[in-house]
Amino acid sequence: MTKLRRQSLTAYAAPLCETVVECPQPKGSEVLVRIERCGVCHSDLHIQDGYFKLAGDKRLDVTAGRTLPFTLGHEIAGVIERTGPDAEGAAPGRNVAVFPWIGCGACPACRHGEENICTAPRHLGVAVDGGFASHVLIPHPRYLIDYAPLPPALAGAYMCSGLTAFAALKRIADRAARGPLLLVGLGGVGMMGLALARAIFPQPPLVADIDQAKREAALAAGAAAAFDPADPGARKAVLAATGGVHGVCDFVGSESSLLFASGALAKGGKVVVTGLIGGNFSTPVAMFPLRAMTIEGTLTGTLAEARELMAFVRSGKVPPIPVHERPLGEAQAALDDLRAGRVVGRIALVT
Ligand SMILES: [Zn+2]
Ligand SMILES: [Zn+2]
Repeated sequence: MTKLRRQSLTAYAAPLCETVVECPQPKGSEVLVRIERCGVCHSDLHIQDGYFKLAGDKRLDVTAGRTLPFTLGHEIAGVIERTGPDAEGAAPGRNVAVFPWIGCGACPACRHGEENICTAPRHLGVAVDGGFASHVLIPHPRYLIDYAPLPPALAGAYMCSGLTAFAALKRIADRAARGPLLLVGLGGVGMMGLALARAIFPQPPLVADIDQAKREAALAAGAAAAFDPADPGARKAVLAATGGVHGVCDFVGSESSLLFASGALAKGGKVVVTGLIGGNFSTPVAMFPLRAMTIEGTLTGTLAEARELMAFVRSGKVPPIPVHERPLGEAQAALDDLRAGRVVGRIALVT
C-alpha cells in the first residue's frame, strides 16, 4: 500500500509534525489525488490557533468537530492517482486543481450551488483532511478542475485566494463602470484581486496597504495609485482623487480597514469584505440610507465561480502572482513566515 505522508496538526497552537498512515482506497465516487502543490493560506493560521479573533478579547472557537491529527491545506493541485468504481470521468494521470469548498449537498445553500457556505461543510483542510500531505481523498470528480497550461502552485492558489478575490470582484463588477475600484489589503488575496481586476475591468484599481513594500509591488503590477491607510490624510486623498469610490474590496477585514473602505465610498457605493483579521465596526445606521451604502460579506466562492475563474485564467489574460515554493517539510516555517508578514504573494508546498 502507498503511504500517506502528512504535516499534521496534532495539537492546537502547536507546530505541525509529520504523521504517516496507509493511503485510503477510494470507494464509490471518491477520487484519490496525489498532491503536487498545496498553497499556504492565512486561514490555516486560524485553524492552527483554534480560533478566529473577533474583537477585543473575544474569539470564535473553531476546534469543534475536528479530530486530531488533522491535515491543513486547501489550495491543492495534483494528479488523479486512483478512483472509486463510480468516479466517472476521472482518468488516472489527469492533472487537476481541487475545489476544496465541498458541502453536504443537501442544505439550502448546497441546493443552490453555494457549497462554500454550507451549514454542514466538508471543506478540505478545514473540516476534513486537506493538502499538506502526499495525497488527498475527494468525494466526487466534479470537484476536480483541469488547469493546464498553468503551473500547479498557481492553480492551487486560484482555488482559495484567487476564488475569494474573484467572487468579491464579481459583487462590485456593476460599480466598476462608474470609476476605479479600491482594493484594501495587498496580501495574497489582495494581490490576486489586483491581477484579476486588471484583467477584468478597463480601469486599473486603486490600492491601499499599510506596508510600503506591498504598495510598491502593487504599483509595479499596474495599480493606478497606492494609499497608506495609516496616513491620516489617506481617506481625503482617495476622495480628492476620485470624488468617492463606488466599489471597494476589503481584503483585510479589520476595524481600521473597514472604516477606511467605507469612508472612501461615494453615494451608492459598496464594500465587499473577505478579510478575517477581526475587530468591531460601527457606523450610524442612518448612513446606510443617507449614503445608499452597501456592506456585504463573502466567503471564498462557489464551484461554478471556481470553474469560471479557471477558464478565465487558463485563457492567459491574467498575469500570474508570485508563488514561492518550499518543501512540504517546511510547512510550519512557511506558516511562521506568513504569520510574521514576511511573504509577498503566496507560498506553495511541494509535496
Ligand atoms: Zn485559503
Ligand atoms: Zn450543505
